[in-house]
Amino acid sequence: MRPKRIAILGSTGSIGKNALRVIDALGPEYEIVALTAHSNIELLAEQARRYKSRFVAITNADYATRLSELVGDLDVELLAGPDSLVEIAQLEEVDIVLTAVVGAAGLPAVLAAARKGKILAIANKEPLVVAGELLTRTVKENGGIILPVDSEHSAIFQAMQAGSREEVSKIILTTSGGPFRKATAADIQNVTLEEALAHPVWDMGPKITIDSATMTNKALEVIEAHWLFDMPVEKIEVLVHPESIVHSLVEFVDGSVIAQLGTPDMCFPIQYALTYPRRVTGIGKRLRLEEIGKLTFEKPNLETFRALSLGFEVARMGGTTAAVFNAANEAAVQEFLAGRIKFVNIIESIEHCLNKHSAKTSVSLEELLEADAWARKEVEKRAKEHKSIRA
Ligand code: NDP
Ligand code: MG
Repeated sequence: MRPKRIAILGSTGSIGKNALRVIDALGPEYEIVALTAHSNIELLAEQARRYKSRFVAITNADYATRLSELVGDLDVELLAGPDSLVEIAQLEEVDIVLTAVVGAAGLPAVLAAARKGKILAIANKEPLVVAGELLTRTVKENGGIILPVDSEHSAIFQAMQAGSREEVSKIILTTSGGPFRKATAADIQNVTLEEALAHPVWDMGPKITIDSATMTNKALEVIEAHWLFDMPVEKIEVLVHPESIVHSLVEFVDGSVIAQLGTPDMCFPIQYALTYPRRVTGIGKRLRLEEIGKLTFEKPNLETFRALSLGFEVARMGGTTAAVFNAANEAAVQEFLAGRIKFVNIIESIEHCLNKHSAKTSVSLEELLEADAWARKEVEKRAKEHKSIRA
C-alpha cells in the first residue's frame, strides 16, 4: 500500500514538532511531502533534510535566500511568501494537510485544501472560528473531512462515536483553567508576561498560552466546536478540570456521558487524526489513574474571564462577529507579548472592537477578511494610545 503523504503547515511550531515525533514512530506508512515555517529557517532546513521533504515553504519571503542556501544540496522545491501555504495545501502529491500554523493567517491555505477535498487535520483553530460556515461547507461540497487535532475536539470527536449526532444532548469542553484559575478580576489587573506564559499543564506556543491565560482559547474552542460538530451553542458547556485528564465529554439523550481520557500530551490527538479510523500503538505516556488519584471539576469564573461569556455570545451571533473577536484577540496578544499593553487590555481590546463593529449576518470571505483587518488596525491604534497615556 502507498504511504499516506503528509504536508505539515507550521512544522517548526509546538504542534508541528510533536507531529513529526508522532510520524517518526508511525513508521514507513506515513511520508512527509511538505513542510512550512514562517521564519525559523534553521529548523525548517534541518527538518527538510531529515524527512527528505520534496517541498518546503517559508511564508516570510525575507528569509527565502538564506533558506535556499541551507537546503541548496537537497532535492527539494522551495516556495516563499504567504501564498506558498496555499500552493502546498493543494499539492496533488499530498493526502493529509496538517494545519499547525498560528492564527487566521492559515485561513486561505485551509480553504484551498478543503476545495481539493483533502483530509484536513486541523490544529489551527482560528480559521474555523473566523470562517466556520464557509470552511465546513467547502469541506462537505468537495468530499473532504476535518479531523480535529485540538485535544478537546478530538475527545468530542471520539466520544461522539458512541451514538448518533441526533442522540447528543450536549457537549462539555474541559479546560485546565490556566495559570489564573483561582484569580479574581482584581488579581489579574497587574499580572506579568512571565506569569501569563507559565501554563500549569500544557507546553504550547506563546499565542495559545496567552489565550489560555485569558480563557479566550476556550471561547475560540466553543466557536470551533459549534462549527465542527454542527452543534447549537445552547448545547455546548465549559467545565474547569485542572488535572487535564478528561479532555472533554459528550452527554447523550439517555443521560449517559461518554468522556475521553489520557495524559495531557498532544501526541494523542495528533496521532488519532493521522491514523483515523484506525488506532495504533503510540508514543504518548499511558494514563495510570491510580497515580492521579482524584479528578476535580468546577464551574468557570465568568467574572474574571469575561472572554468566555463573550465567546458564547459571539458564537450565537455568527456573521462577522467571530472574525472581529478573533482578529482583535490576535492583535492584542501580539501587543501584550511585545510589552506594549497590559494583560487586562487584551479583553478590553476585544470588547472595544465588538462594541464598535457593525456586524453583518450573511458574509462572504471578503467581508470576513475586511472585518479581520479592521479589528487589527483598531487594536493597534488603541495600543498606541495606551502607550502615550502611560508615557
Ligand atoms: P507555535 O507558535 O508554536 O507555532 C506556529 C507555527 O506557525 C510555526 O511553525 C511558525 O513558524 C508558523 N507561523 C507563525 N506565523 C505564521 C504566519 N503568519 N504564516 C504562516 N505560518 C506562521 O504555535 P502552536 O504550535 O502552539 O499552535 C499552532 C496552532 O495550533 C494554533 O492555532 C493553536 O491554537 C493550535 N493548537 C495548539 C496546541 C499546542 O499544544 N501547541 C493545542 C491545540 C491547538 P516559525 O517557527 O518560523 O515562526
Ligand atoms: Mg484545546
